[in-house]
Amino acid sequence: MLGVEHTVIESVDLESGGRDGEVLVARVRPKAGAARRCSRCQRRCPGYDTSATPRRWRGLDFGSTQVFLQATTRRVSCPEHGVVVAAVPWARPGSRFTAAFEDSVAWLVCHATLSVVVILLRVAWRSVSDIVTRVVAARAGQVDRLAGLRRIGIDEISSPLGPAVSPCRG
Ligand SMILES: [Zn+2]
Repeated sequence: MLGVEHTVIESVDLESGGRDGEVLVARVRPKAGAARRCSRCQRRCPGYDTSATPRRWRGLDFGSTQVFLQATTRRVSCPEHGVVVAAVPWARPGSRFTAAFEDSVAWLVCHATLSVVVILLRVAWRSVSDIVTRVVAARAGQVDRLAGLRRIGIDEISSPLGPAVSPCRG
């Protein structure tokens, strides 16, 4: 239900979330095989240090209840990238949202207005922009954006070569 893989769920509790009412907090950690991996190259690395305070990632809501994953983060010493934050299997590097939440946001912005996404998922519009950037970057190279392409139309007026070039014929 949390939409996570390679993750150990240690506990799940309801906590007061202030004006948002109660929030569900799942305390998690990466499974052994997914732990201590560089967040840039996914290589398994020696541990460097552990954060003093746990960090939270927003997950997909359970009905009207907001969900957060909470974990202690650590840094690893990668031979190629130096000391970097270790990857976590439930979120993309640098994100405060789970990958499942981000994928839902990215899908929804293709089918609804930004204001609908912001209200429905209770997320700031700036966060939506950052999420879409991360999802597109993560999918780059995995998706052939020209697959099924049959015809290209190019606006002749905006072409620096002028109307003599007519690439849209045929
Ligand atoms: Zn690395």
